[in-house]
Amino acid sequence: MISIISFILGPVETNSYLIADEESKEAVVIDPAWDGAKIVAEAVTRNWNISNIWITHAHFDHLGGTGEVVDLLDTRPSVALHPEDLAMWHAQGGAQLFGIRIGHVPEPSQDLSHGQQLLLGSTQFEVRHAPGHSKGHVMFYCQSAKVLFCGDVIFRGGIGRTDLPGGDYNTLIESIYSQVLTLPDETRLMSGHGPETTVGVERIHNPFLG
Ligand SMILES: [Zn+2]
Ligand SMILES: [Zn+2]
Repeated sequence: MISIISFILGPVETNSYLIADEESKEAVVIDPAWDGAKIVAEAVTRNWNISNIWITHAHFDHLGGTGEVVDLLDTRPSVALHPEDLAMWHAQGGAQLFGIRIGHVPEPSQDLSHGQQLLLGSTQFEVRHAPGHSKGHVMFYCQSAKVLFCGDVIFRGGIGRTDLPGGDYNTLIESIYSQVLTLPDETRLMSGHGPETTVGVERIHNPFLG
């Protein structure tokens, strides 16, 4: 069993997720967007131990709180990113382009790749590479919990923008068809921005698809 806490953080209202395996109390932060202290405090209250940080993609609004989370933990968590977004990570996710300053960004310690299995306690997650919004964008799929953490690939009624460096519209649509719509309709989609939705709802109602 996993528990999911969501936060809306930072200058562009990014969703960050704190997820724990209830038996082991092991926790992961997906996209520490901002206010790392807030995320760590929530984990401390629940007696969860943040051992991992998983990044969907290296835009500044998905990584801005990473340094703070790492600094506040006694044991350094692993920071996992797809290598195709590493250059953007080193450029602080384009923060300067938007006139935004973020703190230090720690070096990733784990490379993510398509099809990789990640363990949180005894709960398995699968890494799905879904380029188009950025080159190294990945999603995290937990089959047992029927949930996909899909970052900025797809939103309720929308899709990720493709006008930023590394973005490509046709690639994004192809990623959505091959990596999102192939999942069961009841799969919850927890996006990088906005409310949650499901594969079934987007399959029918998303104006960018079909
Ligand atoms: Zn993005
Ligand atoms: Zn975003």
